Amino acid sequence: MSVRKIIHIDMDAFYASVEQRDNPDYRGKPIAVGGSPEGRGGVVATASYEARKYGVRSAMPSKRALQLCPQIIFVSPRFAAYREVSQHVREIFRRYTDLIEPLSLDEAYLDVTEDKLNIGSAIAIAQQIKQAIRDELRLTASAGVSVNKFVAKIASDMQKPDGLTFIAPSQVESFMENLPVEKFFGVGKVTADKMKRMNLHTGADLKKLTENDLVQHFGKTGRFYFKIVRGQDDRPVQPHRETKSVGAEDTFPHDLTTLEEMYPELDKIALTVANRLQKHQLKGKTVTLKIKYSDFRQITRNQSLPHGINDLETIVVTARQLLVKTDPADVRIRLLGITLSNFGEEKPETGQLSLF
Ligand SMILES: [Mg+2]
Repeated sequence: MSVRKIIHIDMDAFYASVEQRDNPDYRGKPIAVGGSPEGRGGVVATASYEARKYGVRSAMPSKRALQLCPQIIFVSPRFAAYREVSQHVREIFRRYTDLIEPLSLDEAYLDVTEDKLNIGSAIAIAQQIKQAIRDELRLTASAGVSVNKFVAKIASDMQKPDGLTFIAPSQVESFMENLPVEKFFGVGKVTADKMKRMNLHTGADLKKLTENDLVQHFGKTGRFYFKIVRGQDDRPVQPHRETKSVGAEDTFPHDLTTLEEMYPELDKIALTVANRLQKHQLKGKTVTLKIKYSDFRQITRNQSLPHGINDLETIVVTARQLLVKTDPADVRIRLLGITLSNFGEEKPETGQLSLF
């Protein structure tokens, strides 16, 4: 198989950068786009680089961000603005290739093995895309350029912000060998800790294990690790990657102990899910209920229906039935979530649906 040219582009501190661009008062200051720390408290979606210096990170509770950086400014997200920028960025991508796989509003893979303008050099294309984003949108992006998605994505993160990192085909294997296991994206903290307990710290350590060893310890993902540490990742850039599921969940300030408390919370979550499904014109056949108990034990239960649904009432009824079947007497619930999946034939606009 011939060598591919893959670019991963990632906008730098995307939501925060758009806010700083559009509001001079925010420039050069620590800001966090996301929920405010008041009341039950929101979470940080994106922190500006000024805020990151204080240790503020995405997905951190806003209350914690305020402790770390008392002068931080909280800004409510403006998704319409981010979507508009995202569309413009995609239009820039399309000048070079139609093989674009968006991962979210601010991230995408591009396959430029063959590019529309016959530039031939993936590095030159990445430079031009970065320049166009700067000129036309007054924002910066970081690019990773390599032979597959995995390495390109890791590379884009290496010299942020405004970076461009190229990992040549001949460097891929040694690059993977030297990579610390926690840098493998998709390896969560739990798996990384497990690897370290097994004395596996880098790609080179993983490489010493057989495929069977890896599968035994890490399940079917082990097969993926086996290939990836050898620089093998033949996953194609998929321009029409479908949305696979739409969901919402909520963590409660106090554990829920009775059905009377659980039903209204479940209904609220169902409403969020129904709104999202309807906005994206999706109907799912499978309803999944997630429950996390006060001891952090987690279960999921699902029910598949004969037809796809996206109406509030059916989601509520199905989710309530699933909840009742878990025998919710004498339990303390700290989180509930509902997800719809199994969308069937429809091909919606690509991209993951964020958790807002
Ligand atoms: Mg980003």
